[in-house]
Parts: sequence; structure tokens; C-alpha cells
Amino acid sequence: MSGVERCQVAIVGAGPVGTVMATLLAQAGIDVVVLEAAEDCAQDLRASTFHPPTLEMLDQIGITPMLLERGLKAPVYHWRDRTTGEVIDFDLTEVSDVTRYPFRIQCEQYHLSRGLAAALDHYTNAQVRFSHRLLTFQQDDHGVDLAIETLTGIDRLRADYLIAADGANSIVRKWLGIEFDGFTYAERFLCLSTETELADHLPNLAYVNYVSDPKEWLVLLRVPSVWRVLVPTDAALGDDELRSERMKNGIFERLIGEGSSVQTQHRTLYRVHQRVAKSFREGRVMLVGDSAHLNNPLGGFGMNSGVHDAFNLFDKLEPVLRGRAGEGNLALYDRQRREVTHSFTQMQTKENMAFIKGGQDSAHAARRAKMQEMKQNDGLRRAYLLRQAMFESLAQASAIA
Ligand SMILES: Cc1cc2nc3c(=O)[nH]c(=O)nc-3n(C[C@H](O)[C@H](O)[C@H](O)COP(=O)(O)OP(=O)(O)OC[C@H]3O[C@@H](n4cnc5c(N)ncnc54)[C@H](O)[C@@H]3O)c2cc1C
Repeated sequence: MSGVERCQVAIVGAGPVGTVMATLLAQAGIDVVVLEAAEDCAQDLRASTFHPPTLEMLDQIGITPMLLERGLKAPVYHWRDRTTGEVIDFDLTEVSDVTRYPFRIQCEQYHLSRGLAAALDHYTNAQVRFSHRLLTFQQDDHGVDLAIETLTGIDRLRADYLIAADGANSIVRKWLGIEFDGFTYAERFLCLSTETELADHLPNLAYVNYVSDPKEWLVLLRVPSVWRVLVPTDAALGDDELRSERMKNGIFERLIGEGSSVQTQHRTLYRVHQRVAKSFREGRVMLVGDSAHLNNPLGGFGMNSGVHDAFNLFDKLEPVLRGRAGEGNLALYDRQRREVTHSFTQMQTKENMAFIKGGQDSAHAARRAKMQEMKQNDGLRRAYLLRQAMFESLAQASAIA
């Protein structure tokens, strides 16, 4: 392989998960190259919630102070019933004894990936290469050979290990032929963002609100720049109609009593999936983040669980790279993160979706009664807060041998 550039770890994708993974490795002195197909880190409105344990992890790589400075602190979140007006509030301050960050931080995810990608420039052992698209790769017993499309040609790189942080459509997962089991929701979701201050119209609004309704449920999320309103759409309608003024006016008319005066910055349609890769590892290649699992956004678990993958994988991979542990460590990464994706993230997001869809049926009445009981009962409420803040998922993962 003389003449071919080498590194210890190649990471595909400079999203939040790839940049966190790269920073962990770079800070440990590992030689790492990040390949990103786009010209820069994406600046779209996707994840906006950082849960307490994620803030604690990100503190280890020095980025939490920036998130605290740029984001909004949200100790309280609401489950609301649109028809009755009932509000059930949960306050993370109650779990201050287990975390130094008893709140969610509401901050656009691109602050994380852009901040980390810029900081990686300062490491001599790390590089982020934009406009570098992984085309294909082949692994053998000692490493992985990559073919990468650049603006001017095809580059070759040999890495000891390859980490796929290349998102939902992961080319790495596809080349490995790993099944991505699960389902796609029939309805698409429409995400509208506006600078209109919704709290002026809806009293007692939290920064994070899940509004249950059988006809049109809503997620109302505040980030520093805008309010984001997420609604399900009618599968029979086309893109133009769904993004139209008429549609936007109707949504805000029903929400705050006026629609035409509301200006929107984004009107984004997207499909939502519940899928988990059959394996998070094949030999010297590991999947992290959206390349390994997808879930609906109710609870804000997608990016957070990807960051948790990165920290877990770092703990397993670093000793392997140092020759202090064998490949069994990588198999443990696969078991811990894959099993917890099924037992926690998938299960909880499906439950959150069932609750928000509401309905007049007895199943919804039972779910509502359970939520009210959790609110009233100190022990149940604490367990619920720790579950929704993802502490429980981390405890579950570390218990898997
Ligand atoms: C509307 C919406 C709201 C969301 N809200 C939340 C929330 O509140 N909380 C939460 O935790 N999660 C949320 N999520 C999910 C969250 O955005 C994702 O889980 C997160 O972006 C996953 O990060 P990632 O780094 O794994 O993948 P991505 O962010 O998708 O990054 C993948 C990167 O890989 C690059 N890439 C792809 N293929 C190649 C290739 N062949 N070569 C080189 N580069 C490549 C892409 O260009 C991209 O930059 C939301 C998602 C959506 C759509």
C-alpha cells in the first residue's frame, strides 16, 4: 500500500455525531480524518434539544459552555391537551441531585457541528475535509481502503478503522448490506419556523411543548432564533399545497387565532422513520448516529442518542487502538448501543407518538390517566423525568455485558 495516505480512524460525515466522535479521538491523540460530502457543516433546522446527560458528556470535550451561552435553558416542558387545554408540566429542577445541568438546552444543532469542526482545525492529528464524498470502501484483516470523490478527482485513504456518521442514507451501511429494519410513518411532517413570539398569544408556554390532539397534534419548540412548529400533514396533499400560504395561515389561525400576519422563515417537509440497523459493527467498520438508527422527533432523542453512541464507541475503540483491548470491545459497543436503541429510544418515541396523537378512545384515556398519575406521584414523576432526560437509557446500556 505504499504511496497511499494512511490514518488511524476515518469518519464519514461532519454532522453532530461525526464531529463529536472526531473531537474525542483528536483529543486522545489519535490520528483522525473526517470526510464530509458537503462544502460545510449543514446549517439546517433539525435537532434543537440537548438533554442533561448529553451536556455532561459534551462538557468533557469543552463545548458545553458555548451551548449554554448560545442556547436557551429549558428546565420545564409541557404535555398539553389541545381540546381540553389541560397542561401537564415536568420540571427537571427536581433531578438537580443527579446532574449539574437540570434543564434541556434549546439550541440549533449546527452550532455544535460547526463549533467542533472549526476547533478540529487546531489539532495537528485531525483534519476535516469538506467536499470529500466517500464513494466506496473495502476492509481486510488489518484496515479499510477508502475511495473518496473530491472536487478534482478520486482520493485513496487507508484507515485502521472506519466510522460511519453519514446519516440516514448512509452509504457505508448500504455497502455493508446491513438491513435497516422498521417502518416509515405514512404522513409527512411539516416544520414551520417563525420569529412571531408565540408566547404573546399562548399564555404559560414553555420552551418545549408537546400538544396532543387527534386531528392536528403539534410540537412547539423555542430555539434562540425562532419558534418551530411541527405538525403532521395529510398524505393526500402535494408539496406545493403543504408549503402554501393557505396551509401556513390555517395552522397559525388554529394555533393563535391569526395566520396571514405570521411570517415564516422555513417551511420544511420531511419523512419520519423508526428504523434500527441489524448490526452497528461489521469488522473494522462501526455505525453511529442516524446511520445506525432513526426515530420520530418526539422527545428529542435522535441527535442525543447519536452523541451517546459516539462516547460509548470512543470508550471501546480507544483501548483497542492503544493495543490494550481486543476487538471484543467493539462487539460490546454494538450490543450496548443497539440493544438500548430498541429497548429505550424506539420504545419511548413510539409511546410519545401514541400519546401526542391523542384520540377519544379508551387507550388514550388510559395513557392520559397514566401521565396524570406520574405527575402526582413523586416516585413515578422522578422516574419519568430521568427516563425522558435519557439517564435511564445510559444506565440500561452500561448494564449490558
Ligand atoms: C426536523 C427534525 C427535528 C429533529 N429534532 C431533534 C431534536 O430535537 N433532538 C434530537 O436529539 N434529534 C432531533 N432530530 C434528529 C437529528 O437531527 C439527527 O439525529 C442528527 O442530525 C443525526 O446526526 P448525524 O451526525 O448522525 O447525521 P447527520 O446530521 O445527518 O450528518 C451526516 C453527515 O454526513 C454527510 N455525508 C453523508 N453521506 C456522505 C458521504 N458518502 N461522504 C461524506 N459525507 C457524507 C452529510 O453531508 C452530513 O453532513 C431531528 C431531525 C429532524 C429532521
